[in-house]
Amino acid sequence: MKIITVLGARPQFIKAATVSRALKKQTINEIIIHTGQHFDANMSQVFFDEMEIPQPNYNLEISGLNHGAMTGRMLEKIEDVLVKEKPDYVLVYGDTNSTLAGALAAAKLHIPVAHVEAGLRSFEMKMPEEINRILTDRISSILFCPTETAIKNLEAEGFRNFNCQIEQPGDVMYDAVLHYKEKIETKATVIKSQALRNGSFVLATFHRAENTNDEKRLREICRAINEINSHIKVILPLHPRTKAFIESLQIKLEVTVIPPVGYFDMLALLENCKLVLTDSGGLQKEAYFFSKFCVTLRDQTEWIELVETGTNQLVGANFSKILNAFKVASSAVFATQPFLYGNGTASELIAKSLVKL
Ligand code: UDP
Repeated sequence: MKIITVLGARPQFIKAATVSRALKKQTINEIIIHTGQHFDANMSQVFFDEMEIPQPNYNLEISGLNHGAMTGRMLEKIEDVLVKEKPDYVLVYGDTNSTLAGALAAAKLHIPVAHVEAGLRSFEMKMPEEINRILTDRISSILFCPTETAIKNLEAEGFRNFNCQIEQPGDVMYDAVLHYKEKIETKATVIKSQALRNGSFVLATFHRAENTNDEKRLREICRAINEINSHIKVILPLHPRTKAFIESLQIKLEVTVIPPVGYFDMLALLENCKLVLTDSGGLQKEAYFFSKFCVTLRDQTEWIELVETGTNQLVGANFSKILNAFKVASSAVFATQPFLYGNGTASELIAKSLVKL
C-alpha cells in the first residue's frame, strides 16, 4: 500500500513522525510532501534528526502568502505529485491550509483521504482552522477522531449519513508525548540554561491571530502576564509573530522572554512548570498529559472535555478573568484524571485501519 502524507506545520511533523513509525510496522510505503507552509527556525535539519522525522520526499517551498494564494499554489503542486505517484490514500493532519490543499487535491482525483484529528470544532467560522477542518472532514473517506466530543460533532453534522468511515483511535499527540518524554533528560537544555526549579514558574505561549492582531486583547494578555510575573516567574517562549506585534505597539513585557523552543525543551518546560497559560491547541492537551492546570487565552476551545474536567479554564483575553483563573489554578490540586485521549496507541490503531482498507 502506498500513502502520501501532506504536512506543512511543526505540530503536524511531530504527529506524523509518530504515525510514520506505526505505518512502517505495517509495511505501508509512505511518501511525504512538505508544503513549506510554516517557516520556523526550530524546524531546521536538527529538528528532523532529533525528532526522527522521515525526510520529506517533496519540498514544495510554499510560504509567506495570503490564504488564497497559498492554498491555491499548494493545490496545484500537490496535484502534480499525486498524478505522478498514484497513491492508494492521502493522509492529512489537523486544520492548516496544507491539510485542506492535500485533501482537496486528492478528493478531486478520486484518491481517498484519511484525516487525522477529524471532528474537532471551535464553532468559530472566522478561524481559518475551522474552515479548513470542516471542509477536510467533509471530503475525507476515513475520519480518525481523537475524542468522544469529535465523534459527537460529526454525528451532529450528519456525517453518519455520508459515505465515510468514522473511527476513534485516540489522540496521536498523546502517543507523541509518551514517546518523546523518555528523551527529555538527554535532549532538553532549557531548564538548566534558564536555571529553573520544578514548580517555580508559569509557562506562557500565545500566537493566535485573534490575540496578536487585536490590540485590546494583546494589551490585556500582556498586562495579565506582567501581573502574574510579580507573583511567580513567567517564562514566555515568544512566537516571532507575537513578538512583532508587541514591539510595534511598544508594549513592555516584564516576564522572562525566550525564543521559541524545540519540542524537547517544550516538554521539559511542561514537566517542570507550575501551570500553563496559552492560546495553543496542542499545549492545552500537553498540559493535561503532564498533569498541569491550563488557563486558556481563547473564547472557545476544540478540547472542551478539558474544561469539563476543570483542569482547563477558558478565559479569553480579559485581565481580571486571567488573574482569577491563575489564582484558582495556583492553589488547586491536580487530581487523577480519566484517559480522554486514548491510551497511547492511536498511531498503531490508525496504521492498522489503513492497512485493512
Ligand atoms: N511547541 C514547541 N515549541 C514552541 C511552541 C510550541 O515545541 O516554542 C510545540 C508544542 O509543544 C505543541 C505544538 O508545538 O506540541 C503546538 O504548536 P502551536 O502552539 O504552534 O500550534 P497549535 O497546537 O495551536 O496548532
